[in-house]
Amino acid sequence: MNNRVAPKVYGWCPGALRPMMSGDGLVVRIRAPLGRLSGDQAQAVADLSHRFGNGILDLSSRANLQMRGVSEEDHAPLVTALQDLGLVDADAATESRRNVLVAPFWAAGDQTHSLAQQLSDALVAATDLPLPGKFGFAVDTGPAPVLRDTAADIRIERNPDGLVLIADGADRGLAVTPTTAAAEALSLARWFLTHGGAPDGRGRMRPLIARRAPPSAHGATLTAAAPQQRLGQIASGRLVGLEFGQIPATSFAALAAQGALRLTPWRMLLVEHATDLPPLPGLILDAADPRLQVSACTGAPGCLQALSNTRNLARDLAPSVPPGRRLHVSGCAKGCAHPGAAPLTLTATGADTFNLIYNGTASDQPAHLNLSASQLRAAPDILTKGS
Ligand code: SF4
Repeated sequence: MNNRVAPKVYGWCPGALRPMMSGDGLVVRIRAPLGRLSGDQAQAVADLSHRFGNGILDLSSRANLQMRGVSEEDHAPLVTALQDLGLVDADAATESRRNVLVAPFWAAGDQTHSLAQQLSDALVAATDLPLPGKFGFAVDTGPAPVLRDTAADIRIERNPDGLVLIADGADRGLAVTPTTAAAEALSLARWFLTHGGAPDGRGRMRPLIARRAPPSAHGATLTAAAPQQRLGQIASGRLVGLEFGQIPATSFAALAAQGALRLTPWRMLLVEHATDLPPLPGLILDAADPRLQVSACTGAPGCLQALSNTRNLARDLAPSVPPGRRLHVSGCAKGCAHPGAAPLTLTATGADTFNLIYNGTASDQPAHLNLSASQLRAAPDILTKGS
């Protein structure tokens, strides 16, 4: 017996208009247009987090910003305030459909920026497109794609000959142009629906492509992915890390005073045009910080499904994770913080007890059962013995 507990699968993601109830109140997710908040928008969101939420902002693995701890009575005034900031769609169906992840290194008016805008507009207008709640798009047209490790069902990338539209999971794509890319992306989404991608309203492109080939016109080659992005100075500003992908609203406001913020799916924010930044609570400025080697979900008490607190243990074990490896601490077998395999995973089996899994996901077969948090803290080399 390995004490694995089947987690609940919702099949949809919370939004601002359709929040999800969690252990600490409503989770309200803001899908910022093109993944960017101006300095004023970001300062206002920080204020709203203090006023209506728990004063902490989470950055999701799809580069959305999340408020937690919102009461049901406060939801309507919060939505009104977000609407005034231009951060909410007209209705929940539009909010769900406009699921466009944008590579954060764009410059105003460049191809990534203009295609992301065109695609967002086209999705808002496509009221007859009943896509599954988690179905998403990525616009990633820099010299080498940076979003390949981030879930997206339809991608727009570049190869040496021009733009390529890709059904996730395929090793070839459709050659498109700046004027056809958005329309072709919607055509591919319709192809997904008409070819059985979401028989009961749920489904993703990758499993469909595993079952059948993409459309026959998809013959363009793909470019190799860029190396994993590191913290530090880049042309458009400074990339900073967030401990466990969350940041106190006060730190968020202080960053917003330095420049507009772009949201990334890597637990990092890009502070536009910033160079030197002050140390702030929750902020990681050093690319060698051991906290960058750990992932941990919300855990208890914030998540209703969590069997244990996660982040305190992950923080304490971070310095013991060998260089180049990753530790994932999960409050249940769902593995929200790191859905793929990790070299080391601790999956909670009860309050402060964990199974240890090598090179697998949070629901895979464990190598060690029911290790206590105190045992792991006292002898963290248990983590790598036998791995
Ligand atoms: S993995 Fe963590 S956040 Fe996700 S459902 Fe389980 S306990 Fe909750």
